[in-house]
Amino acid sequence: MEDRKFDFLDEIYRTQVAFKDHAKNISIDERVNLLKRLKSLILNKEDQIKEAIYKDFRKSFIETETTEILASILEINHLIKNLRKWARPKSVGSSLIFATTSAKLIYEPKGNTLIITPWNYPFQLPIVHLVASVAAGNTTILKLSEFTPHINQVIKDILSDIFEPNHVAVIDGAVEETTHLLNQKFDHIHFTGSPTVGKIIMKAAAKHLTDITLELGGKSPVFIDKNINIKEVVRNLIWAKFINMGQTCIAPDYLLVDKAIEKEFDAALKEEIKNAFGDKAIESKDLARIINQKQYDRLLGYFDELENTQTEWVVKGEHDKSTLFIHPTVLKNFPQNAKIMQDEIFGPILPIIYYTDVNEALKFVAEKEKPLALYVFSKQREYVDYILNNTTAGGTTINDAMLHIMHPNLPFGGVNNSGIGQSLGLYGFKSFSHERAVLRANFFPMSKFFWYPYNSKTKQVLNLIKKIF
Ligand code: NAD
Repeated sequence: MEDRKFDFLDEIYRTQVAFKDHAKNISIDERVNLLKRLKSLILNKEDQIKEAIYKDFRKSFIETETTEILASILEINHLIKNLRKWARPKSVGSSLIFATTSAKLIYEPKGNTLIITPWNYPFQLPIVHLVASVAAGNTTILKLSEFTPHINQVIKDILSDIFEPNHVAVIDGAVEETTHLLNQKFDHIHFTGSPTVGKIIMKAAAKHLTDITLELGGKSPVFIDKNINIKEVVRNLIWAKFINMGQTCIAPDYLLVDKAIEKEFDAALKEEIKNAFGDKAIESKDLARIINQKQYDRLLGYFDELENTQTEWVVKGEHDKSTLFIHPTVLKNFPQNAKIMQDEIFGPILPIIYYTDVNEALKFVAEKEKPLALYVFSKQREYVDYILNNTTAGGTTINDAMLHIMHPNLPFGGVNNSGIGQSLGLYGFKSFSHERAVLRANFFPMSKFFWYPYNSKTKQVLNLIKKIF
């Protein structure tokens, strides 16, 4: 018997393909209205959002309010404010050779799109990418992660209140459902997740030459000079590393610190981690939990591998399998080929390499894949410039961590293994739009000058053009 279990996906797909020409014609004013309605529903459902994410991985209400709700609202506000301007056709400058023409860019929706999101920011990521797609005039199938069922239900409730499924439909299946969807032809696929799955997405997109945005991950290094305010930098890093229990794509993955400050730096980490989470971090209300058993076991596997090595544990504490808790951990002097230095850690474990020669640290980073984020801390401009000039990364914050993703006018994205394409704000709108080149010949056609049979007059025109332009 024919397997009909994915008929519902095929049906959604069919209705969206049928609707995409209508979606294209939804006026900018109407798109802005949809965004306004979405914003107000999100604000009305704040409590449900916080409770749902707490149930999914015990994320604190404050962190959900900041990194999920506020981040989504700021993105929606930015779109509401700027969409009319961004969607307007843009005239482009001319050159003498094109003096008799006018040229412009117009923004067309890509068409029917698929957005696939991970579990780690399970409200913010689906919303910020979805609003870019809707603002650009597309239809969207939004595929949420299978690991966050509670918040998925809230997202479904919110979106089904505003959108018909032929315009925006929410799916929360796992690999099988996604694989089925990926057989279909989309006009754009926006994927957020691991580089491993990113390659699967790119391969599937290649079948139809579908345009893609890949927001991936990787190991994001932090360069730390001796010339810093140690306490301030350490606090900053603790916040950036342990927010969301270390499960953040742009979290500092490992530190490269000038050996001259090793003692003070270790001491500050010990003291400030205690300050932040108390003597019994497991009782801190601010620390979220690891998303599931599989990820918990993966993270503990790093400890097992390092057990009989020279590794020094600057900070270590209790773990609890039943509640998926791992104590914030800092380590040094581990074997540099250990698994923890190969994988993206994506958890509350922070390795430090103390360097005596910054060029060695730069070489270490250069031998790895290009990172999604790279951070530099120094009061010395020359140090910062040297690091910037000798590295690459999707994005960088200097003397702070993670802030570049929040800036409304900066693109967000990786480079090669950490991502392809850019998202958020204007860049998100553009990645869900086709920027169409339109030229109008105002006076006479080109064939006036180039007409068969080619002869010496044609050659004269060519020579003249070469001389003048
Ligand atoms: P993941 O790649 O395992 O899963 C992401 C999505 O892909 C999920 O919806 C999942 O259901 C789907 N998926 C998983 N396996 C699949 C397969 N074989 N075929 C088709 N679809 C599949 O990632 P994750 O564990 O959910 O999230 C963690 C990763 O996401 C980290 O690498 C992190 O850095 C990255 N991330 C990146 C960003 C960014 O904006 N660059 C943001 C958050 C997370």
